[in-house]
Amino acid sequence: MFGSPTRTGPAFEAAPRPKRIGDLLKAGEPTFSFEFFPPKTPEGQQRLWKVIREIEALRPSFVSVTYGAGGGTRDRTVEITERMATDTTLLPVAHMTAVNHSVRELRHLIGRFAAAGVSNMLALRGDPPGDPLGEWVKHPEGLEYADELVRLIKESGDFSVGVAAFPYKHPRSADVDTDVEYFVRKCRAGADYAITQMFFDADEYLRLRDRVAAKGCDVPIIPEIMPVVKTSTIERSEQLSGAPFPRHLAAEFEKVADDPEAVRRLGLDQAHRMCERLLDEGAPGIHFITFNQSTATREIYQRLAAGRPVAAAARP
Ligand code: FAD
Repeated sequence: MFGSPTRTGPAFEAAPRPKRIGDLLKAGEPTFSFEFFPPKTPEGQQRLWKVIREIEALRPSFVSVTYGAGGGTRDRTVEITERMATDTTLLPVAHMTAVNHSVRELRHLIGRFAAAGVSNMLALRGDPPGDPLGEWVKHPEGLEYADELVRLIKESGDFSVGVAAFPYKHPRSADVDTDVEYFVRKCRAGADYAITQMFFDADEYLRLRDRVAAKGCDVPIIPEIMPVVKTSTIERSEQLSGAPFPRHLAAEFEKVADDPEAVRRLGLDQAHRMCERLLDEGAPGIHFITFNQSTATREIYQRLAAGRPVAAAARP
């Protein structure tokens, strides 16, 4: 029978699926991914795992867990990422930062992730604890900038490493030109992909991509999306994204501000429209911030994934 198994094995071998985000992106289909944070309470932990299981059922391309500033939350990030790698079918990306870590500690952390089978990392400098724009103080035996962390991870093993990108420029950068220059330096240090800060105006992403391409850098930049589900998100958007919320979008929300359900519907529609445009313009995927709640991002993902191929990774 055509395609039936033989004594020597199946007639058709499925092409091996990549386990590294860099390879997944090279395969060309869009990636869809979800970001979580380590909760502080046992109830938050329980809620997180319920959401992780809901997302797992959708078979996203990968998931990631943010890395906090303090010891307890850092341990939880490591535990959640390890458990994702060992107890689920998800492909986890471990966020790592250089904040208050010696190189020795960073090497130990990389080894811990590797032992759990985590082969994808997001290399970040991180922000000073407390005030993100406060004075950055390098650990005496640590690293200064994210490009050094990219190099450290790359020389430690066969990892696929991502970095952060900022459509409106990083708040510490003097201007967009120096911002892009250092971004490209980070990519040349060995980054395989980048994920942006969240944004609400697709043109900002496209301008960043053009600036990076003009420097001869073709590292895929995945846009990070956070749908507005409450008007309070608009108030916090400058703090979250580094830029004022676009006026024309704010005006649309103002019209329905008294109706929480209409605000949510509008937020999902806007985010969905922006994702469609980004994918049409060739964005390599969409990375959703979930805030450990899945309904809004799941809904947008399901709308986007309907009738579209989704990059699928090899499961652990
Ligand atoms: P860098 O690339 O080191 O850049 C920091 C600043 O220094 C920029 O202004 C840059 O232009 C400049 N610069 C870079 N290299 C040089 C150089 N050689 N000489 C002079 N200037 C230079 N934070 C967390 O704490 N935990 C997380 O899990 C986390 N996840 C994130 C995920 C994403 C997708 C994004 C976009 C951000 C995330 N952050 C996280 C926030 C991030 O750590 C902060 O925004 C941090 O301030 C910048 O990190 P970076 O890796 O971009 O730093």
